[in-house]
Amino acid sequence: MIRTRIAPSPTGEDIHIGNLYTAYINYIFAHKNDGKFLVRIEDTDQTRKVEGSEEKILSTLNAFGVNPDESVEAGGEYGPYRQSDRLELYKKYADELIEKGSAYYCICSRERLSKVREEMKAKKQIPKYDKYCLSRQDEVQKEINNGAEYVIRLNVPTDEEVIFQDVIRGEIRINTSNLDDQVLLKSDGYPTYHLGVVVDDYLMKISHVIRAEEWISSTPKHILIYKAFGWELPIFAHVPILRNPDKSKLSKRKNPVWASWYLEQGFLPEAVLNYLALMGWSHPEGKEIFDAEEFTRVFTLERIQPVGPVFDVTKLEWMNGQYIMALPISNLKFLISNFYKDRNLDEHIVEQSVPLVRERMKTLKDYWDIAAMFYQSPIEYEKDFTNQKELLEKVVHTLESISPWKASVIGEKLQDLATAEEVKFGTFFMMLRIALSGKKVTPPLNESMEILGKEECITRIKHVI
Ligand code: GLU
Repeated sequence: MIRTRIAPSPTGEDIHIGNLYTAYINYIFAHKNDGKFLVRIEDTDQTRKVEGSEEKILSTLNAFGVNPDESVEAGGEYGPYRQSDRLELYKKYADELIEKGSAYYCICSRERLSKVREEMKAKKQIPKYDKYCLSRQDEVQKEINNGAEYVIRLNVPTDEEVIFQDVIRGEIRINTSNLDDQVLLKSDGYPTYHLGVVVDDYLMKISHVIRAEEWISSTPKHILIYKAFGWELPIFAHVPILRNPDKSKLSKRKNPVWASWYLEQGFLPEAVLNYLALMGWSHPEGKEIFDAEEFTRVFTLERIQPVGPVFDVTKLEWMNGQYIMALPISNLKFLISNFYKDRNLDEHIVEQSVPLVRERMKTLKDYWDIAAMFYQSPIEYEKDFTNQKELLEKVVHTLESISPWKASVIGEKLQDLATAEEVKFGTFFMMLRIALSGKKVTPPLNESMEILGKEECITRIKHVI
């Protein structure tokens, strides 16, 4: 049984776009193999916890359709799916490691710990804990019985090679002399990430740990814990971290990083996921546009490249535009109305205007920029109309006579007027365009006038006059 997971920590206002990427890969991989994808909330660092973050992460995943089979909300037989609801378990397993000699109690003060680190740094050694408490466990135990605060540390063996296979990166090895005696259980009774993640991945029967490359250096510590328990290792795959176009790590300062921002800007979830699919992975036939179903069919973990893929919002906009163009009009109409539900757009106008504007839309948000003229008269004009009063009056006169009010008839009559007045078409229609919309760029003018209606067009021109 293939079981994958993401394990977000609720420490930000939403799920990071990079974590959405990891989530999508986990989701697709599980589905491809008739497996299960779960979301576990890793909230063991109470100091960094952000109120509302857990709910937001889950609702954003939901909005993108990356729905977990098991989670705090969906339930499941391996719950609870929030680490703060599993504290007794970690305590039990930490105690088990102590019994096995793979972990020990430590009561060193902060001051001592930083002193030891400083001394090691001064000697140009890797700063780590010096196992002082390990050598005096009986004494430590007594102090703990008398109420001393303690942590439980992993007893990392000296000078051992930890070797593991990463599906994307091949063999990775690290010598334990580079590893610190990691704290597993903190003095507040919460586990650290390292203990929590191993215990839960084991108990939740995770077959494939697919996560971001920043966790590679933690993996050897996890392997030592798996070995200490005598548990079988999951398969590891560390996906690349997304980069800004300048190759720096995707960060809040350079790029919007919260996944829901993309939805708020009018990107379609399918387009964002399609773009994420191409991060470090390419379609065997070189295709750029493909849906989740196709991705599921052709995806393999092995095809992911380990080097930092560039997340380029401009490229994403292009892709989103392709998705918008491919949508049936009725779906696009629905999405636009929904996106602008606060504005309560007139359904009929949305329907009429969508075919005129969609080629120029990269996001749903673009709709308003292009189509605002159908809903509101201009507030300002990108031109002044000095000396054009007379011509505009003639336009009004012509418009009044037009019947039926159809784009083709409107166009023909206005051309006749321009010809009779000896005004170049370009100049004439630009004047009219700005008079009606305020802007130099609008959807096709005759069609737009048909949508606006005769009365509204005349009112707007009279206003200019
Ligand atoms: N809690 C870690 C995070 O915030 C999980 C890392 C992992 O997937 O093991 O991303």
